[in-house]
Formats: sequence, structure tokens, C-alpha cells
Amino acid sequence: MTTLSDWSKVTRPIPVPNEWTKPFWDAAKQQKLVMQRCQSCGQFQHPPYPTCTHCVSVDLKFEPVQGKGTIYAYTIMYHTGDKRFVAAVPYASIIVELDAAPGALMAGNLLDVPYTEAKVGRRVEVAWQKLNDDFTLPLFRLAKE
Ligand SMILES: [Zn+2]
Repeated sequence: MTTLSDWSKVTRPIPVPNEWTKPFWDAAKQQKLVMQRCQSCGQFQHPPYPTCTHCVSVDLKFEPVQGKGTIYAYTIMYHTGDKRFVAAVPYASIIVELDAAPGALMAGNLLDVPYTEAKVGRRVEVAWQKLNDDFTLPLFRLAKE
């Protein structure tokens, strides 16, 4: 029998935005997903960088994207170096490719289902988790389709 990971006792680390990541976190606070997109070649990238990782342009903007995508890769965490996550072990850490931003990969946890439900190719959608008054974290759950 596989049970749900217990996230209720996990105190997640609070993000520390920098000039490149601040627009992402500002949008996330309003439960809006934005991704950095190169205005020269059109490539999305995540996490944000000072230059396009595809063509090295510095003409980058954040654009709103839909929070639906596919599990690109995953790992099951049976041990954790960060003791704040011990209560949730075992849990699924997933890498997601959003439909709206092909090539850009987002990391998160798979919520609300047993960790054994994490499979490459499964459809997921963003699930927002408020960390405090300043930060809301995008995580994922299986898409209702
Ligand atoms: Zn580019």
C-alpha cells in the first residue's frame, strides 16, 4: 500500500529572489505563472538567466503561460539532505515541461497522489502553495482531464 506524502509537517525554504528571478516570484505571489522568453529567437527558459541559453541574446521578457504540462523526468526521494523535508519522505520530485513553454523545464513536487503516480509523460497542472505573505510556490498535481 502506498500512502500520500505528508507535506503538513514540512516547512519549505523561502525563496531568495534576485534581479533575474524576481518577476517570476512577483507573478507567483498572484498565482500567475510567467516564464522568461527570448524576444530574439522565441525560446522559453527556466530558471531565468541574464542571457538566452539558446542564442545568447539579452532581449528577454517574462510572458504569462498556462500551468499545464507533462512530466519530463522524476525522482523519488527516499532520503533527504534537507531535514525540513523528512516528514514527507518518500515523495516525488518532478521535472515538468509546460505545453506553453516547450524546452523550458520547471521543478516541483507532485501533490495529492501517492508518489508512485509520478511517471514520465503524465499530465500535470500547477497547484499553488502559499508559503507566507510574500511567496507562493508553484507545485503540481495530476491534471483533471
Ligand atoms: Zn534566444
